[in-house]
Amino acid sequence: MAQNYDVIIIGSGPGGYIAAIRAAQLGMKVAVVEREHLAGICSNWGCIPTKALLRSADVLHSAQHAKNYGLTLEGTISPDIKAIVARSRGIAERMNGGVGFLFKKNKVDIIWGEAKLTKPGEILVGPITKPIVQPQGPIPKNTLGEGTYTAKHIIIATGARPRALPGIEPDGKLIWTYFEAMKPEQMPKSLLVMGSGAIGIEFASFYRTMGVDVTVVEVLGQVMPVEDAEISAFAKKQFDKQGMKILLEAKVSKVEKGADSITAHVEKKDGTIEKITADRMISAVGVVGNIENLGLEGLGVKTDRGCIVIDGYGKTNVPGLYAIGDVAGPPMLAHKAEHEAVICIEKIAGLPNVHPMDKLKIPGCTYCNPQVASVGLTEAKAKAEGREIRVGRFPFVANGKAIALGEDQGMVKTIFDKKTGELIGAHLVGAEVTELIQGFVVAMNLETTEEDLMHTIFPHPTISETMKESVLDAYGRALNA
Ligand SMILES: Cc1cc2nc3c(=O)[nH]c(=O)nc-3n(C[C@H](O)[C@H](O)[C@H](O)COP(=O)(O)OP(=O)(O)OC[C@H]3O[C@@H](n4cnc5c(N)ncnc54)[C@H](O)[C@@H]3O)c2cc1C
Repeated sequence: MAQNYDVIIIGSGPGGYIAAIRAAQLGMKVAVVEREHLAGICSNWGCIPTKALLRSADVLHSAQHAKNYGLTLEGTISPDIKAIVARSRGIAERMNGGVGFLFKKNKVDIIWGEAKLTKPGEILVGPITKPIVQPQGPIPKNTLGEGTYTAKHIIIATGARPRALPGIEPDGKLIWTYFEAMKPEQMPKSLLVMGSGAIGIEFASFYRTMGVDVTVVEVLGQVMPVEDAEISAFAKKQFDKQGMKILLEAKVSKVEKGADSITAHVEKKDGTIEKITADRMISAVGVVGNIENLGLEGLGVKTDRGCIVIDGYGKTNVPGLYAIGDVAGPPMLAHKAEHEAVICIEKIAGLPNVHPMDKLKIPGCTYCNPQVASVGLTEAKAKAEGREIRVGRFPFVANGKAIALGEDQGMVKTIFDKKTGELIGAHLVGAEVTELIQGFVVAMNLETTEEDLMHTIFPHPTISETMKESVLDAYGRALNA
């Protein structure tokens, strides 16, 4: 007889593993099915290993600029790509093991294999089929094997994989996805990055700091197209200064492959074509949900543009079936997956006061140099919604801590509803803004107004003081500029 659970979760990424732990905390009998690696893309091939690479880039940058801080470093400082990649992979492995430990601690069963829905409340776990693009990790000990399993509630948390443009498909050798970009065997001399979203620009930043000749091609009119235009333009100026070549309103229309290089045909807005030759190319044109081979069609599960359609609590159109994380649509971010997981489980458990997901309050962070972080509406979006707004700005050049750190290139921009004073957007660029943004996220979650923020005391000296000054500036009261 099939083993029965309260909840079965397909996929152990940030969506799946958080759902499993929350369900176990609430006394449910839980199993997670995983086919590749515990902890999903985030820990193995996404958020964490990229930040490890970027940390190496930061340290290299600091060492190269030691003189600015009155320090003399003897000898040459050069990156050892094998050691940098080994550090990043070691950290990914540690994260992977951490999720295994949490499952054991919370008595979550792991079923190893590929899950497919057979009928409502039932899955068949079998061997891996296509499409699968990511390398497999170690199979944890004491896992359950292939077979049929049943549950009252089934949550799909199968994540996403790199999107490929027809004719420019990644081949893993000359045209990379994030998998190959994460573990180069040797450093290319030149690199073309197609797409300047968070993934593309983080890799562009990493490789440029490592000394690689980097060209970024972006089809839209700004780098990091979802960000506020002013913040994006500020960041671009810094990238330009670092020697990154950025082509906006341009698209790669064709790629010719050589023995050890590519030549990209880059079509500009005016119709001209620039041919750019580079050792390697990264295709970073987004991700698509892993919705194939899951048996969704058989159950009539609604999908839209490669993702499963859900309501604010993760429910699909099929009773007892839920979806969370990347497979349930944008923004494709780990913290969105985790929050959706908690909402979904608490709703299943019938807890009171479960709030549906509010996508406006999901922060976005990009760990390039300089970092970019935001939450809420951009100025353009607020205006497009017909809202009357007040906008405040404050530059890092007027902040003592930023100057002391040698990190004076940055700014904070805040957007308020003119009528109510409610904070409706915050956009930051500069050092450590990915840590600062959470202050504004909490403020927005509490529906804070400019008055509340002005009454809040910010510690001195910190870069966070630029946040308060930006609020003051929106009301013509900035004190340090
Ligand atoms: C290079 C890169 C950098 C990133 N950086 C950040 C960042 O800084 N911050 C951030 O918030 N987000 C970042 N992301 C995005 C983040 O990784 C994802 O949003 C997050 O991993 C989504 O979690 P998930 O649980 O939905 O899916 P995933 O993490 O993709 O996990 C899904 C799991 O499901 C398994 N699976 C799929 N199909 C089946 C099946 N049929 N049976 C069994 N198992 C299956 C997969 O093997 C996988 O382990 C980054 C992504 C990339 C690629």
